[in-house]
Amino acid sequence: MRSDPAALAGWGELNAPAGWRALDFISDLHLQDGEPATAQAFRHYLRDCAADALFILGDLFEVWIGDDLLDAAPAERSTETEYDFLAGICADLRAFSARRALYVMHGNRDFLLGARFAAASGATLIPDPTRLRWGEQRLLLSHGDALCLDDADYLAFRDQVRRPDWQAAFLARPLSERAALARGLRAQSEARKLDPQMHWADVDPTMAREWLRACQADQLVHGHTHQPARHGLGDGLQRLVLSDWDVDARPARAEALRLDADGWHRITLAG
Ligand code: MN
Repeated sequence: MRSDPAALAGWGELNAPAGWRALDFISDLHLQDGEPATAQAFRHYLRDCAADALFILGDLFEVWIGDDLLDAAPAERSTETEYDFLAGICADLRAFSARRALYVMHGNRDFLLGARFAAASGATLIPDPTRLRWGEQRLLLSHGDALCLDDADYLAFRDQVRRPDWQAAFLARPLSERAALARGLRAQSEARKLDPQMHWADVDPTMAREWLRACQADQLVHGHTHQPARHGLGDGLQRLVLSDWDVDARPARAEALRLDADGWHRITLAG
């Protein structure tokens, strides 16, 4: 096995209540103050969503520098911290979660979402991966980044930023400093995207099967790669990949993957 088996150590389990008839899965919205059209599409989606439960599988936010942002004094609310924008999204989530079940998983951008965010949004934070039983179906939900084994540099970074001591040290810095660090990381990542030599790692199919077997699930649902598709993995196993959201792109991208009694449906929300 090439990956750290500890990645699976903390997997979660969730049993869907019998009353759930439709479940929605979304990820990689990368919500940010500078892209109001995508945030607006998300607000409309939350308002109109007919699913009984919504699972957000990581990277809801482009960046989340710490829950204490939500309690920052007005003087600390620089434009960098995007306080009004992020607090507004939390309020929209709160209105949604008053009516429906809402689950949020960390992505590689918003891995610092914590208890204060959960309280503000009404979301339940779930571990990566989480096995969800819905009737006879057993789904394994993941952001997907831990399965992209070819991206060694990123996996080393991921290990580092998930460590409690790293997170405590980061969160001890002032908000403005954290915002500046996050901006630097985003600029690096954007520069990487423009490099024509850059090879994009995809989910490793062997490891995906490994995870499904270990968690006794047969369908992996994940985001992160921004390559929406449905892939067979053999032996009746499959993985379903979520789309990212970017309403300003042409064609626009914003969709939810819905599971109901008739199976899977991709619901287009823009474009
Ligand atoms: Mn991601």
